[in-house]
Amino acid sequence: MLSYLHAFHAGNFADVQKHGALALVLSMMQAKASDIACFDTHAGSAVYDLRSERARKTAEADDGVQRLWRAREGLRSADWMPVLDVLTRFNAGSGELSVYPGSPAWFQSFLRSGDGLTLFELHPSEGEQLAGWASEASVRVLRQDGLAGLLRQLPPRQPRLLTLIDPSYEIKSDYHEVAETLEKAWRKCRHGVYLVWYPILTSGLQEQLKESVRATGVRKVLCSEVHLRKPPDRGMTGSGMLVVNPPWGFDSRLSEMMIDIAGPDVMNIDHDLEWLVPE
Ligand code: SAM
Repeated sequence: MLSYLHAFHAGNFADVQKHGALALVLSMMQAKASDIACFDTHAGSAVYDLRSERARKTAEADDGVQRLWRAREGLRSADWMPVLDVLTRFNAGSGELSVYPGSPAWFQSFLRSGDGLTLFELHPSEGEQLAGWASEASVRVLRQDGLAGLLRQLPPRQPRLLTLIDPSYEIKSDYHEVAETLEKAWRKCRHGVYLVWYPILTSGLQEQLKESVRATGVRKVLCSEVHLRKPPDRGMTGSGMLVVNPPWGFDSRLSEMMIDIAGPDVMNIDHDLEWLVPE
């Protein structure tokens, strides 16, 4: 049974890292003209109201995107510009940040006419909301398992591929299953760029994912980890992203973005970047 709802977490520090990295990859890939097939295996409901009861219950965005938004004038990396542009568009004219785009909306904001976007979502009410949003956004929604579904879609029609794998990790076997799917997808489309998000937990469960990915044949895997300087005693203390086949220069540009938001007056985080598997 699926119980995770992203509305409780939208715009938190992990989303800032994940969607910042996604926007950067999209901008860098789109520096070339050839079309990109985009896949979002765990899409959620696309757009979130930061004033909703669910969002206010946890108030996670207060320590995430709201801090980024308040610091926006002082950000030095030019790569935050496209991120701020998207946030501004979703909050047209208000100056306040009350609407937060989920990953489908980040993808859709960057799509060019030849690019494709396929979204997977299994949760009944999230899937319904997503389908409603997508009907106006002319993207494809498949209400099926995102991992198996992705493999059925590969290789894509377009010459390039970008995939976001962002499960809720509600069951322990998800960590292994994600690594297994990543390997199968990579074998079908070795030049694809794959982003895999994972939580950094006090239990250390994320090490299973990293170990499993190391054990596959997948090469060129960058690992970006954000660690809270004041972590909770239990639960999520950080946010991780694996990036397979990052565009050249992505590592230093992502680092600069993260340095911008590291300070105690912004998000109070440490950022570590290393190759989990080199070329
Ligand atoms: N990617 C979204 C974003 O960044 O805005 C957040 C996604 S949330 C972490 C994970 C989503 O995956 C939830 O909406 C959940 O219902 C959905 N989900 C869980 N298991 C799934 C599966 N096997 N296939 C597709 N979606 C699934």
